[in-house]
Amino acid sequence: MSSIPLPQAPICVRFAPSPTGRLHIGGVRTALFNYLYARQQGGKFVLRIEDTDRERSEKQYEDEILFSMRWLGLEWDGDPIRQSERLPRYQEAAAELIAKGLAYESVEDGKKAVRFRMPKQAVKFKDSVHDEVAFDSSLWEDLVIMKSDGYPTYHFAVVVDDHDMGITHVIRGDDHLTNTPKHILLYLAFGWKPPKYAHLPLIMGADGTPLSKRHGAVAASDYREQGYLAQGTLNYLALLGWGPEGNEEIFSLSQLVKKFSLKRITKSNSRFNPEKFLWLNSQHLKNMPEEEYLRGMTEYWSGRNDWTQHPQWAQILKLYKTRARTWKDLELQAGYVFQKDLKLDSVICAEMTTDPQAVEGLKAWVAKAQDMSFEDPLKLEQMTRELAESSGVKPAVLIHPLRFAVSGTKVTPGLFELMQVIGKETCLARIRILIEKAPKTA
Ligand code: GLU
Repeated sequence: MSSIPLPQAPICVRFAPSPTGRLHIGGVRTALFNYLYARQQGGKFVLRIEDTDRERSEKQYEDEILFSMRWLGLEWDGDPIRQSERLPRYQEAAAELIAKGLAYESVEDGKKAVRFRMPKQAVKFKDSVHDEVAFDSSLWEDLVIMKSDGYPTYHFAVVVDDHDMGITHVIRGDDHLTNTPKHILLYLAFGWKPPKYAHLPLIMGADGTPLSKRHGAVAASDYREQGYLAQGTLNYLALLGWGPEGNEEIFSLSQLVKKFSLKRITKSNSRFNPEKFLWLNSQHLKNMPEEEYLRGMTEYWSGRNDWTQHPQWAQILKLYKTRARTWKDLELQAGYVFQKDLKLDSVICAEMTTDPQAVEGLKAWVAKAQDMSFEDPLKLEQMTRELAESSGVKPAVLIHPLRFAVSGTKVTPGLFELMQVIGKETCLARIRILIEKAPKTA
């Protein structure tokens, strides 16, 4: 019962989330660095669910964490290990320390618990990020290792599990740095060799405090919902506290695996920058092969509304490929394409129709376009330019109000391609609405 049947490897790392909330992006960064290290070294990456806090642990959070890990593509080796399924092992390990005289039964809140007799000594260890780290345990009180409910404490379970799972490197957040000397003393009490440690700098919000819900979205699933890509998310998080040589910033997961090194993790905390995250995500969307982009966008929007049923869906997506920064951004960039009842801003309506030449031009344009197919953007453009020329106005006099009428905005992809995807009937109806709103001349 002292080792867990996991794929043994010269290098074995783990991600050990507590299922007390959704997967936080700080947790994703920890999982990612462990994953990158394991894959690069040909080692194993295992997942351990630290569910010994009975009050706060919930199955729904465990499910959510596994779901988010899969979404991100951070596949782990073997089955996840659940601490709640290993209680006899912790009891056995506690009994071992009691038998050695290194722990004792104590009474906590009227119930029996077990405390580790804290050795009073200097504890030094080498951390891949912080180099030499030293603590003095002489003022620390004896550590509760088994709680009165029969569950181990975090400190105890983590040591027994890391040992039994053959973990060679513990890569986790700086918030655990002060726990590490306690863990090392437990390793020594058992006569086990401690793993190597790398404590990662924390991720801070704009105000310099650790990133939390107060700063906005912090769960990986929030970003998924907001239409971020797994690869954009991983790329951004990789650069929080780590950086390769050179100025390059855009990496796929497999490129990160090649480039990652524990040595290049920074000591200082990093600042979460939502704009940079969005920009990196947009770069991944832009660089994505067309097929994958169409599939991803369709997957994101299916079930959210009926846009994917639009007869020109694929054409619409092509038109916005370089504009959408996330899947969800399509709504902001192209929502007007799908709207049944497009609302036009009255101030801009007035601005677009003050010039009587523009209004006359729109009427003439509709008269011509009625007899045309909208399938050929070049023909629509040619007709528009000829019409402008014969009316003695610049093409822009027609193009600006046409663009506004069909989209409700002043900036769109190429107007005539846009008209093609919106379709003749809708375009003409929308243009007539703008004409109707024009001030009536006597
Ligand atoms: N379960 C701990 C946490 O979620 C991680 C413990 C560890 O990595 O040692 O913070």
